[in-house]
Amino acid sequence: MENIIILGTGCAGLTAAIYAARAGLRPLVLEGNLPGGQLTTTTEVENYPGYPEGIDGYTLTDNMRRQAARFGARYVSATASRLSVTPGSGVKQLHTAGADGACYETHALVIATGTTPRLLGIPGEREHFGGNGVSTCATCDGAFYEGMDVVVVGGGDSACEEALFLTRFASRVHLVHRRDTLRASEIMARRVRGHAGIATHWNHLPVEVRGDATGKVRALAAKNRTTGDVVEIPCKGLFVAIGHEPNTHAFEGVLDRDANGYLVPTGSGGVGTRVGGVFVAGNCADPVYQQAIAAAGMGCRAAIEAERWLRENA
Ligand SMILES: Cc1cc2nc3c(=O)[nH]c(=O)nc-3n(C[C@H](O)[C@H](O)[C@H](O)COP(=O)(O)OP(=O)(O)OC[C@H]3O[C@@H](n4cnc5c(N)ncnc54)[C@H](O)[C@@H]3O)c2cc1C
Repeated sequence: MENIIILGTGCAGLTAAIYAARAGLRPLVLEGNLPGGQLTTTTEVENYPGYPEGIDGYTLTDNMRRQAARFGARYVSATASRLSVTPGSGVKQLHTAGADGACYETHALVIATGTTPRLLGIPGEREHFGGNGVSTCATCDGAFYEGMDVVVVGGGDSACEEALFLTRFASRVHLVHRRDTLRASEIMARRVRGHAGIATHWNHLPVEVRGDATGKVRALAAKNRTTGDVVEIPCKGLFVAIGHEPNTHAFEGVLDRDANGYLVPTGSGGVGTRVGGVFVAGNCADPVYQQAIAAAGMGCRAAIEAERWLRENA
């Protein structure tokens, strides 16, 4: 029986691990299938406080991991596949995927399982993802494209937001959408349509990310769905804005999720759930900010709330 289990080793889970470990709780941390979380898929992080020259994503989360280990956090390579709660005692069971199918029991639980950005699944995309020209986050990577042409793919509110944000840096933003109207709210759509720095390419399906001899992105090839012609849209950066998949299926039926699958935080600190002793942190419970520092802040709050809950209930 564990005092506290933390699911996830992104910024949220590792910050929760630092706080829980420093409170003497010896947290057990399940790493999931992406140790270090989403930041390990990028090179340069320039907006995490404390690093005036920037830091690469892998080093940043590896530092957090070692910091928590120094105070007693323990790590296991496992992915939770299902959560159950014993009625009465409130003990939580985490069933895990994998050959041994181990089941872990705990009094308190912090869920920081993040999201998986949706990608297009076209040739060239994976090779250029994370620091090589393909991104899923304009707030994170937009500033790297000062004075260059970029493409945003998508037609919802987040695609419009990404496109508008990128006009601050890019010489031209190309918005590529597979339909002939935007799915976004009218106000966002109007802003995009009226912006001189944004060129829209309606009815176009992305088919390939094309690179140059140095391995950098040079163009997006897209197929016109009306004529069947494939055109090349020259660009240095491609921002895929077709949504994120929250990693929350394991909690279905036990915790509240919104229509898009994000966990719904409640209670004090904005990190509680309807199950006593279960707390949520980071992108899996935050559809809005989706930034490393915001996830870390929520991880801190979740660990402090869990420690208080354990003091009063376990
Ligand atoms: C290419 C790219 C560049 C980015 N650049 C920046 C940037 O410059 N600045 C910035 O602030 N943000 C950036 N971000 C966003 C940032 O990475 C996220 O906001 C942050 O990682 C969220 O942290 P998290 O801990 O909530 O989730 P994640 O980092 O997604 O971590 C989730 C963790 O949960 C684990 N997990 C998942 N499912 C389970 C399960 N069932 N059981 C156990 N564990 C599980 C995973 O293995 C992983 O360790 C970038 C994102 C991307 C994709």
